[in-house]
Amino acid sequence: MEKKITVIKGDGIGPEIVTEAQKVLDKVAEKFGHKFVYTDILMGGCSIDKYGVPLTDEAVEVAKNSDAVLLGSIGGNTSTSPWYKLAPNLRPEAGLLKIRKELGLFANLRPANLYPELREACPLKDEIIGDGFDMMIMRELTGGLYFGARKTENVDGVETAVDTLTYNENEIRRIAIRGFDIAMKRRKKVTSVDKANVLDSSRLWRKVVNEVAKDYPEVELEHMLVDNCAMQLVRDPKQFDVILTENMFGDILSDEAAMISGSLGMLASASLNDTKFGMYEPSHGSAPDIAGQDKANPIATILSASMLLRFSFDMDKEADAVDNAVKKVLEAGYRTGDIMSEGMKLVGCKEMGSLVADMI
Ligand code: NAD
Repeated sequence: MEKKITVIKGDGIGPEIVTEAQKVLDKVAEKFGHKFVYTDILMGGCSIDKYGVPLTDEAVEVAKNSDAVLLGSIGGNTSTSPWYKLAPNLRPEAGLLKIRKELGLFANLRPANLYPELREACPLKDEIIGDGFDMMIMRELTGGLYFGARKTENVDGVETAVDTLTYNENEIRRIAIRGFDIAMKRRKKVTSVDKANVLDSSRLWRKVVNEVAKDYPEVELEHMLVDNCAMQLVRDPKQFDVILTENMFGDILSDEAAMISGSLGMLASASLNDTKFGMYEPSHGSAPDIAGQDKANPIATILSASMLLRFSFDMDKEADAVDNAVKKVLEAGYRTGDIMSEGMKLVGCKEMGSLVADMI
């Protein structure tokens, strides 16, 4: 199969980690008889330096004309970089918001799982971890409180701020369908998280999710209030398969899930639209403190490339091969600095990428 991948290396460690993910994709192409054609575009600080804006319209067009986007990370040191003296709409992160909007990426997927080899990095007690956990957080990305009307005004001499949380049934339905589809590829359980005891938007959420569930009789559906979910994540994370939730709840819960997984350097993510198209990137930032030193952990980006194969190209066998290669490299005791523990073998970003590619 021939596929076009737009590559956004970005800033900081971005170029280093994406290069390693491409090394792994190239090995997949060779082994499984595919051809991946890459086109590089600039986004973030590097685009500001060259074009004066964090993302050009031409770059968006390239992304739109491809089958998927692989992104490293963007941004610099927010205290010292000149990029953060610019107006907010010209800063690196504005490029990310623009590309999400232009590509209609409304579904954010963040897996949170624990590798047995990295148990020590998990802050939970052994009896809670048990045999580990493996969940997928499906967060709505373009609606809710972060996109509703907001204002700050003086009401009768008192400064007052208002944010609006709006969802319509179509926005809920399309993300719910995505959540159930993903559950069908996994352990067939959806936990829909809301605050239906208080919020109207959550009551509509629950109603629409129940409707969608009727089309997926094999999937077990449960509803959970967001405050309970925050507790259950640290009390018994094994119970979760797919967590389906709105924008702000997902923002907070996915960071909590990242924390219990141990290392930021291991966590992949995907943002999808209503076709097979998606943008795939690690959950971490551009780590300017270690950029250019061959110290970055490329695994989150390699696992993002695996999600790209699975969700945009329907290449499940190939994605499994990448996931297994990562497991084998960890089992063999290789570690980058961020996941290093006593008795393990310390390797740099390039060597870690080569080790994973060689295991495929
Ligand atoms: P960060 O995730 O870049 O780094 C936090 C800490 O984790 C640092 O000590 C860093 O060295 C370490 N770290 C992160 N990824 C690592 C990896 N792969 N291997 C080893 N160590 C790793 O967060 P930050 O320092 O708060 O942000 C730095 C920049 O990244 C900022 O400009 C921020 O806006 C940006 N950012 C971008 C994205 C994105 O591109 N989607 C996401 C988050 C932050």
